[in-house]
Amino acid sequence: MKQVDIIVPCYNETEVINMFYNECKKVTDKIEGYKINYIFIDDGSSDNTLEKLKKIAENPDADYISFSRNFGKEAAMFSGLKNSKGDMVVLMDADLQHPPALLPEMIKGIEEGYDCTATYRATRDGDPYLRTLFTNRFYKLVNKISDVNMPNGAGDFRMMNRKMVNAVVAMSEVQRFSKGIFSWVGFKTKWISFEDAERAAGQTKWNFWKLFIYAVDGITAFSTAPLRLASVVGSFISFSAFVYLFYVVLKTIIHGKDFPGYATVVALILFIGGFIILSCGILGEYVAKIYMEVKNRPVYLIGETSLKNPKEGYDKNGGD
Ligand code: UDP
Ligand code: MG
Repeated sequence: MKQVDIIVPCYNETEVINMFYNECKKVTDKIEGYKINYIFIDDGSSDNTLEKLKKIAENPDADYISFSRNFGKEAAMFSGLKNSKGDMVVLMDADLQHPPALLPEMIKGIEEGYDCTATYRATRDGDPYLRTLFTNRFYKLVNKISDVNMPNGAGDFRMMNRKMVNAVVAMSEVQRFSKGIFSWVGFKTKWISFEDAERAAGQTKWNFWKLFIYAVDGITAFSTAPLRLASVVGSFISFSAFVYLFYVVLKTIIHGKDFPGYATVVALILFIGGFIILSCGILGEYVAKIYMEVKNRPVYLIGETSLKNPKEGYDKNGGD
């Protein structure tokens, strides 16, 4: 019998986690011909989430992995994928924003011969206006300047076959940007849309600043266009400065000393200075990325788990 693993990252989800398991079970109990397995990842929650997960893991179809601290959702998803053994693996949020009712259709997609069934939100009604606006901009930008294509509205709710999961796990970068990784590995993907739902209970873990950093990470992880932009604008400014210099020298030779052009000089210094600092910042983003990757730290560390042979975050390329 084929096995489907459901990976659920949980960070302070005490209010909703039992509801999630019960609601999901209602759907998965009806799926015939497949063994369904749950792997919950407690991402260093500071509330009761872990206790609740331990209770849930007393069921034969559920396991939990608990991190030594909060490593972030990317790390949680990675550990779930790495520790999954199923023929198909699906990533789901704990807050029921990813409707379990889609699972049968997702399994069907893989049985049809697709490597992956991915979902996208048809609407963003559950999100604040500004977040929607910036999200739309982000996807336009990142699709234009990088060689991966991330469809707008595509979240992490997707089911993959073993082949694709292995490919994703084999990408051993420490700073992970799953949306980019999923499209970078390629494979045949079937897209299905779903209506956005409000979070069932509890709080979202995202704020504007976190999302901004996430967007910058997404761009710098999959595109070097900002670096190129810095050199292009830099060359343009240098060229203009050179032409201007030539003009000033020539003018002085012909007309003699002029009145000092204070405003021009200040404007130029500010403009060029600002641009240099911006370029340094862009460079810094990439240098920081290289620094973190070179250190090669584990993506996550397990504090405790119900799994027999857990794979740690430092076993590169799947471990064992
Ligand atoms: N999450 C996590 N670690 C974090 C933040 C979030 O594992 O540091 C989990 C969270 O428990 C939830 C999922 O990631 O299952 C999505 O989080 P959330 O609902 O806060 O994000 P949103 O739906 O608002 O994008
Ligand atoms: Mg949510």
